[in-house]
Amino acid sequence: MRGSRSKDTKPELLVRGLLRELGVGYRLHRKDLPGKPDIAFIGRKKAIFVHGCFWHQHGDPQCRIVRRPDSNNSFWNRKFEANLKRDETNLASLFACGWDVLVLWECELANTDNVKPRLRDFLS
Ligand SMILES: [Zn+2]
Repeated sequence: MRGSRSKDTKPELLVRGLLRELGVGYRLHRKDLPGKPDIAFIGRKKAIFVHGCFWHQHGDPQCRIVRRPDSNNSFWNRKFEANLKRDETNLASLFACGWDVLVLWECELANTDNVKPRLRDFLS
C-alpha cells in the first residue's frame, strides 16, 4: 500500500518543476523540520507541503479527487484522523518556529497557471 508520506509523487515533481522555472533553489524532505516538509527554503524559513487530496482528505467541496473509501470505514476514518492531526501539529510547530508554510493540494496542480503566481508570491 502506498504510504501517506511517500516521496517524489507526481504532484511534488510538478511543483519542483515550477520552482525550477522560477529559478529558486530548494531542499527536499528535511528530517530536522517538523513534518519533513516536501520542499523547504532554509534561508527564507519557508516550507511547502504538497498534499494528496485522498490521504489528507481535502475539505474543499470543489475537490474532484477526494473521496471516502467504500469499505472498512472505521479503519480509514482512524487513519485519516491521524493524518489530519499530524498535519495540524506539524503546521503549528513550524509556525511556532517562525516559518511560513504553503499547502498545495493535488487537485490545485491541475492548473499550473494558477499555482505558479502563488509560488512566486509565497517566495517573494
Ligand atoms: Zn483536492
